[in-house]
Amino acid sequence: MANDFELRIEPNLETVALHAGAGADPTTGALLTPIYQTTTYRQAAVGVDKGYTYSRASNPTVTALEERLAALEGAEYATCFSTGLAATTTLFLGLLKAGDRVVVSQVVYGGTVRLLQQIFAAFGVEADFVDTTDEGIFAAALSKPTKLVFIETPANPTLALTDIALASRLAKSAGALLIVDNTLLTPALQRPLDLGADVALHSTTKFIEGHNATVGGALITKNTELHERFDFTRKSTGTIQSPFNAWLTLQGVKTLPLRIERHSRNALKVATFLEGHPSVAKVLYPGLKSFPQYELALKQQKTGGALIAFEIVGGTDEGIRVMNSVKLCALAENLGSAETLITHPASMTHAAVPAEQRAAAGITDGLVRLSVGLENPDDIIADLEQAFATKSRRAAV
Ligand code: PLP
Repeated sequence: MANDFELRIEPNLETVALHAGAGADPTTGALLTPIYQTTTYRQAAVGVDKGYTYSRASNPTVTALEERLAALEGAEYATCFSTGLAATTTLFLGLLKAGDRVVVSQVVYGGTVRLLQQIFAAFGVEADFVDTTDEGIFAAALSKPTKLVFIETPANPTLALTDIALASRLAKSAGALLIVDNTLLTPALQRPLDLGADVALHSTTKFIEGHNATVGGALITKNTELHERFDFTRKSTGTIQSPFNAWLTLQGVKTLPLRIERHSRNALKVATFLEGHPSVAKVLYPGLKSFPQYELALKQQKTGGALIAFEIVGGTDEGIRVMNSVKLCALAENLGSAETLITHPASMTHAAVPAEQRAAAGITDGLVRLSVGLENPDDIIADLEQAFATKSRRAAV
């Protein structure tokens, strides 16, 4: 599809988020890319088409989103999928075969762990979950033959960071490809491909679409061969995104740079409040000086992001009581939406991770994950304050 976004100057991210991939519709001049809700495309003659033949292979609305996401990551190509996990599944199906080994960050989204341990293991793919925050352990894990290195940074839900430039050097010297799940920061805050990653992976369900309206995923790369493999595997397995979800995501992503800036500012305020609160035992937020990897956050991220992990004094029971007492914050799976969401990883997003593996990764039963939204931060703080107070009142009786 024609992309008439051709500015002579290097456009800034806010401009890219609005315009990349969205040329005015050539037949009507419609400013927004239409939803091409069609299965098939009339061909002028056998073998003569306009670049589209069947919407399992490609669709113009999806192409517009792909052009925009590629531009945001500073890449040539993006391939969009029905969900974030469909992107991960297609990545593994396209690049791995029986006998191959993947080195994965110890802390990653629980669905990624489940996919490797409960689906791909049966096909002979070996996955080793290693502490990629430790250079020595990371390098040692790569002394065995490795096909892919898959990292998530910050990692859901503990926010542990992996040094992307270091991961790229280690992966290259091991002859492996580096995949970075960039869902938690988005290209507005972190650009893995500029730091040497081969592929950036996204659950567009989160900040990219940003409004709790869709599920979707993307694989983004500068490498033509990888891109062709992802397109081929998507067509072969039927994991493409729907045109309607692509259209909604095209609208949501327009405000990504603005939203993520405000999300981050709100999160810093809420994290600072939590850090000073007597009911809170521990706060993990990459934007706080107390964060164990604050220097690395400064090096590779533009802000601390919008996610906070914290533990409540009194452990699991008290934590659950607080989560059950919030009113403005929604107790829900998902992150990255305009609304503030509070989540209990051990029973929700990471329930599929075996308990001992969760413990080794620091995902304690008392850990609370907060995805700070776009409400006035004082209202989020007031809600948490009343939830803590509810807890104290209950504890006192
Ligand atoms: N990657 C990360 C970091 C996630 O948090 C999630 C979902 O929570 C996924 C991937 C999977 O995305 P989806 O839920 O869109 O399949």
